[in-house]
Amino acid sequence: MIASGASYRRLDIPGEDDFIGAGIHFCATCDGPFYKGAKNIIVVGGGNSACEEGLHLTTFAEKVTLLVRGDTLTASQVAIDKINEPTSRVEVKFNVDVDSFEGENSRLKKINYHSSVTGEKSAIEPDAAFIFIGQKPNTEFAKNYVKTDPYGFILTGHELTHQSDEKFGERLAFETSMTGVFAAGDVRHESIKQVASAVGEGAAAAISIREFLKRS
Ligand SMILES: Cc1cc2nc3c(=O)[nH]c(=O)nc-3n(C[C@H](O)[C@H](O)[C@H](O)COP(=O)(O)OP(=O)(O)OC[C@H]3O[C@@H](n4cnc5c(N)ncnc54)[C@H](O)[C@@H]3O)c2cc1C
Repeated sequence: MIASGASYRRLDIPGEDDFIGAGIHFCATCDGPFYKGAKNIIVVGGGNSACEEGLHLTTFAEKVTLLVRGDTLTASQVAIDKINEPTSRVEVKFNVDVDSFEGENSRLKKINYHSSVTGEKSAIEPDAAFIFIGQKPNTEFAKNYVKTDPYGFILTGHELTHQSDEKFGERLAFETSMTGVFAAGDVRHESIKQVASAVGEGAAAAISIREFLKRS
């Protein structure tokens, strides 16, 4: 079974490592509730996760500001429409490159950034920063053996229904394109990226493995 997880992409800028868990976060569902009543939360990123998690963070914060590197949001139209609603509490700043994070008393205090168009430097003092610039699956070792989506997350079960094995038949739930090899958790295409679901997938995959062994 492959359960090698995925790593959150980092900005790799000064201060980032120093404040992870102390103002810098990568999961709004996990850490958003700590910021109930916050004035302003920064979200770095302009893709689907950034937009959806940014909207979710308005549940806790008065305002959420998206710092977007490019000049467009690359999210679903539904998310973009919600962000653009007149009553939305999500502000978007385009063409922003984040330069560094600074702290005070071991917590994030300030984000320094500049405009990639004018070069103008600015700083903001938010309650927290959530970084959503993608996840990288830990599948380097497996990518030549099992089918993945374009981002490297492993395809399993019903995503491979067109593929069956002469001896073992249709793919079982959590089975990869390689007969008898299973995948569960964050490494899997379209998994939920939460501890509870990763553990549940592991248990469910074990049931599929038992079924596979029965057929062997
Ligand atoms: C900072 C942070 C905070 C989080 N907070 C929460 C939270 O509050 N609540 C929540 O539900 N979820 C949270 N998550 C998400 C949660 O951690 C994951 O969804 C969950 O751990 C996924 O489990 P997994 O077993 O699929 O992968 P992982 O837990 O990532 O485990 C993968 C394991 O495989 C190992 N591995 C990687 N590559 C290889 C290899 N080539 N060979 C052998 N081993 C390898 C890794 O070292 C690791 O031990 C958080 C994640 C992060 C990063």
